[in-house]
Amino acid sequence: MIQFVYTPEYRVDIGPHIFPTEKYPLIYERLKSESLITEKNLHHPRMPDKKDLLKILKPEYLDDLLQARLTPRTYPSEMPVKKEIIQAQILCCGGTYRACCLAQEDLFSYHIGGGFHHAFPSHAEGFCFLNDIVFAAVKLLEQKTARIAIIDCDLHQGNGTAKFFEKESRVFTFSIHQENLYPVKQRSNLDIGLENGVGDEEYLNRLSPALNEIFKKFSPRFIIYVAGADPYVLDRLGNLKLTIEGLKKRDELVIGQAKQYNIPLTVVLGGGYAVDVNDTVEIHYNTARVMDKIKCS
Ligand SMILES: [Zn+2]
Repeated sequence: MIQFVYTPEYRVDIGPHIFPTEKYPLIYERLKSESLITEKNLHHPRMPDKKDLLKILKPEYLDDLLQARLTPRTYPSEMPVKKEIIQAQILCCGGTYRACCLAQEDLFSYHIGGGFHHAFPSHAEGFCFLNDIVFAAVKLLEQKTARIAIIDCDLHQGNGTAKFFEKESRVFTFSIHQENLYPVKQRSNLDIGLENGVGDEEYLNRLSPALNEIFKKFSPRFIIYVAGADPYVLDRLGNLKLTIEGLKKRDELVIGQAKQYNIPLTVVLGGGYAVDVNDTVEIHYNTARVMDKIKCS
């Protein structure tokens, strides 16, 4: 059994938009119907307080967010600057941290949310107002959990995360992404920028040795895995060509390594903009299935 964090509050009406917030309840319902989620392993996020949010945000930007104000700091957001959307992302920071705490106790956890890796301390970017991965990692560092590896397999580079931890030797940032695509790249500790059109075989052949290197050289004591569904061949935002089966193998590689070394790991979702939202749901659902299977093995 793995531990899940979820709240229906993540499904916010954002109007006509490519970001499918309906994926959150769809994934939750699927996991519940297949009995991967029961009342025993379902947890809810806790709202972070202002003091904690100031650990990852500049005061003036936090103030903009709390007032849902359109300013040069919130303006770069590709989400509407609306209170309920911002509140959901603040709650999501609490969700990723809660999931990390659960993984510390029980090896693996899965946050049905999160992965807002483009947000910066002083401004929004992409669909991201606040970086839940950074929030959770900062809180883990406070608890003396050093040697955190952030393994970001979203289609897009984890630029906000990479920049935040640029000078932090206790956090290792890794990103494998499509090179010729948004965002403007920051430097992670290890980046793999893939050519357009890369499919399962090449992706897995590039990812596998990188993971070996991270586990052997950095020796992480905690892993946050951004399991983006957008490297998928039918995704509308990218040009990678991974199949649903290939993405499952990606999950097996990352989660399998964590199990082999007995390292706590938390999954956050990241992006997913498939033509058919059911494909996005399937990819995220498979990550939980893989995790459950590996944990029980
Ligand atoms: Zn993405």
